[in-house]
Amino acid sequence: MILLDGKKVAAEKRANLREEITAITAKGHRAPSLVIIIVGHNPASETYVANKIKACDEVGIKATKIAYEADITEDTLLETVRRLNEDSSVDGFIVQLPLPEHISEAKVLTAIDYRKDVDGLTPMSMGRSVQGLPAIPSATPAGIRSLLEYYHIPTAGKHVVVIGRSNIVGKPMAIMLMQRPYLSLPGMSAASLGDATVTICHSKTEDLSSICRTADIIIVAAGCPNLLRGEMVKPGATVIDVGINRVEDPSSPRGYKLVGDVDYEHVALVAGAISPVPGGVGPMTIVSLLQNTLQAALNR
Ligand code: NDP
Repeated sequence: MILLDGKKVAAEKRANLREEITAITAKGHRAPSLVIIIVGHNPASETYVANKIKACDEVGIKATKIAYEADITEDTLLETVRRLNEDSSVDGFIVQLPLPEHISEAKVLTAIDYRKDVDGLTPMSMGRSVQGLPAIPSATPAGIRSLLEYYHIPTAGKHVVVIGRSNIVGKPMAIMLMQRPYLSLPGMSAASLGDATVTICHSKTEDLSSICRTADIIIVAAGCPNLLRGEMVKPGATVIDVGINRVEDPSSPRGYKLVGDVDYEHVALVAGAISPVPGGVGPMTIVSLLQNTLQAALNR
């Protein structure tokens, strides 16, 4: 069984990015710059943002955080988005999700200029990706693609089951894997993976187990601990666990631990390759954000 070690792969990729960015700044260009907007004090979001800023510091991307209280109005947030769209010193920016209920995520994402959309979540970025046009890829699916590439796990002709149909993970993941592979189009990072036969499952899917058992690769992004069990996996299949769930753990000083959507202990006995939680997709998502920021800076 191969452990798909996102922590290790992400560290290597950050080292490469650091070299690339050092070479750019050595030529007298300014460092790529990323702005992260966070609204409210969701503890998980605050941790993600802190990790993203730390990763930017490590590779030489200038990161700036804009923090708003949860009662900020939608108009104020939209005004900030418009300002950042126009600010030529900003290469890319993201709005950390989720947003408070009184703010429309769709409205905010739609307002972001897709050329600065380094999370790859705006309707424009996603629409362009669907049509195979140059676009910044969604960060989590791009991180998963890098992980598969790193471990030489081919997708062409394979049956991939994606569990989850969100705009952030499931849908863009499915699109990315079923596309014809496009190589080195201007403004698009090279991608050698694609050509998969993809099945998307969700909470209304009947007989998830039987569908999963036919998969060569299973990507689970449901937010449901232990959703994928050992008997649902074909021997030798690749399993990518995207889920991040906090479950009570009295033995931990924090009182909780993070688990994915996969019953790791049992699935690892059957799978040919598996990504752990933590240390799998999470660090790869952050590295994709860094790569996307560099790409946006180079595009500009
Ligand atoms: P959403 O809640 O937006 O989507 C979850 C999807 O899973 C939905 O499509 C839902 O179906 C489906 N689903 C839920 N329960 C089941 C079930 N029992 N059987 C089959 N399908 C099910 O979540 P996200 O896509 O935003 O995130 C998914 C998970 O990935 C979360 O744990 C999140 O924390 C994590 N995540 C991790 C990232 C990382 O970098 N590692 C990045 C982003 C997310 P339906 O549409 O029918 O409701």
